[in-house]
Amino acid sequence: MEFRLLKRYRPEFSKCVNCGATGTLKKYRSRGLKDKIAKMLFFKLFFCKNCQWKGRYFTLKPAKHWFRAILLYIIIVCSTALIIYYYLEKFI
Ligand SMILES: [Zn+2]
Repeated sequence: MEFRLLKRYRPEFSKCVNCGATGTLKKYRSRGLKDKIAKMLFFKLFFCKNCQWKGRYFTLKPAKHWFRAILLYIIIVCSTALIIYYYLEKFI
């Protein structure tokens, strides 16, 4: 079973948003504070070798079973909270 909410997405193998060519995107070296902050938020700079387009791509996307994983995490958090609540009621 997979419990991840997000998985890595590699735009290198996807289509360019400007010209539509496949496999022409290449990582672009980030410069400056703005690019570093964007990189920390999983927005990475890419450029197209075909049309020279430059832009940011979000490099995370939802995993296959993200909804099931969220439900599982909610159940775990709620049951832990209940156990702690009953423990505190009984012994304190
Ligand atoms: Zn392009």
